[in-house]
Amino acid sequence: MIQDIAPHQFKNEYMPVLPVNESTMFFYDGRRVLVKKENGNLVFPVYEELKGSLGGKNPGKEYTYLFTIDGRSFYLGEDVPEDFLLDYGWEDIRIFRETGPKYLCFAGITGWQLYRWYDTHKLCGRCGSRLKKDEKERMLYCPECKHMEYPKICPAVIVAVTDGNRLLLSKYAGREYKKYALLAGFAEIGETLEDTVRREVMEEVGLKVKNITYYKSQPWSFTDTLLVGFFCELDGDDTVTLDENELALARWFEREEIPAEYEDVSLTNEMMMVFKTSREKKQPQALYVKEAQTEYQTGKRDGEYTLEDYYALPDDRRAELIDGVIYDMASPTSIHQALLWQIFKQLSEGIEKKNGQCMPFFAPLDVQLDCDDKTMLQPDILIVCDREKIRKGKIYGAPDFVLEILSDSTRKRDMVIKLAKYAAAGVREYWIVDPDKNKVIVHDFEKGNVGIYGFEHVVKAEIFGGACEVDFKK
Ligand SMILES: [Zn+2]
Repeated sequence: MIQDIAPHQFKNEYMPVLPVNESTMFFYDGRRVLVKKENGNLVFPVYEELKGSLGGKNPGKEYTYLFTIDGRSFYLGEDVPEDFLLDYGWEDIRIFRETGPKYLCFAGITGWQLYRWYDTHKLCGRCGSRLKKDEKERMLYCPECKHMEYPKICPAVIVAVTDGNRLLLSKYAGREYKKYALLAGFAEIGETLEDTVRREVMEEVGLKVKNITYYKSQPWSFTDTLLVGFFCELDGDDTVTLDENELALARWFEREEIPAEYEDVSLTNEMMMVFKTSREKKQPQALYVKEAQTEYQTGKRDGEYTLEDYYALPDDRRAELIDGVIYDMASPTSIHQALLWQIFKQLSEGIEKKNGQCMPFFAPLDVQLDCDDKTMLQPDILIVCDREKIRKGKIYGAPDFVLEILSDSTRKRDMVIKLAKYAAAGVREYWIVDPDKNKVIVHDFEKGNVGIYGFEHVVKAEIFGGACEVDFKK
């Protein structure tokens, strides 16, 4: 998400010291920010440049202290010196959702929220006198009537309404943002966040919900908001009654149909992907296994099963077909899913930066590894660089990169059977991640190397020349 900038460290304790040469200066004008781009990265003015343009005059007091990142301080500037406009240009603040580096985008949008607060709180709302900055905390006070103002942060909820295998998605009416999103709304005075969830869901789609569970929160400076994410379950009737002033559309999506999008900015998208990549058993285990067995016990023996049998398995049963043998896959645990998502995010970031041709995917996705009817695998993560192999609903042939996260029930299969299958099929690199032992085993089939790493390491994907890496500390 936009605020996840580790290993960079954001510190917003208020300590209004004077800027030094390296201090970053933010200048805003309405929805615009003064910035330039170098090699696709944002570059902001620093204090040293500013001093030069003011002919040695110390302008330090004209600038408002914001926060630090990794000890470097950030300031809000007021009047842009003329000669700055030659070098830097004005860009819409949307740039903070679209560019990098991420920690500067986060700094830029956080600075913008503070800019708007300072800009709209110049005078006392009670007596009209000019407000002053407090020395000790981020507060403005009126020297005449002692009225105090604190930064504006509006709490709002993001709500994932689930019903078994389904998630409710909506599109906003009359907004710039056109993609599917979760329901959202601001908290009103006098209600708890749980009340906000119930009220917003009822107002926007006319549904009752239960089992409201907190997920994560996110500062969202674009709208002065502190977003608080909740999952909840449908309670009763599933008929959607749309509030057409707020929403253009809302409907239920089966887990598999949820549009997958790679972005690492919003809490909404993370919650959608967490739901999409987790699986839930609808029936008790015993019943589930029994039913499944009768389904494929067609008189065949191990080694004789084909894709026809594989496709005939019940939809909610996750299995793989390897050389004519059907193997059940355990339902992933939440640790498995969290790890999968974190690794996928990091690999995708690396790929996006370096190689336009390759595409990352995560389970469940069928891989017809040997292009025959005896084998169909579902790796946890795979990267495919030859787009010809990407077919409707499956990958046809060997991916370039495969990663499996071990669990007790798949350990032997992943480490022995699938290792041999991947190597023989022409997979270039295979990672086995062992969350029990905090180890990553990297098989570089191209060079014939095997490397073993701990979770304290940053592991690089060899086939991308180290451009793609995963920091397991995260
Ligand atoms: Zn006043």
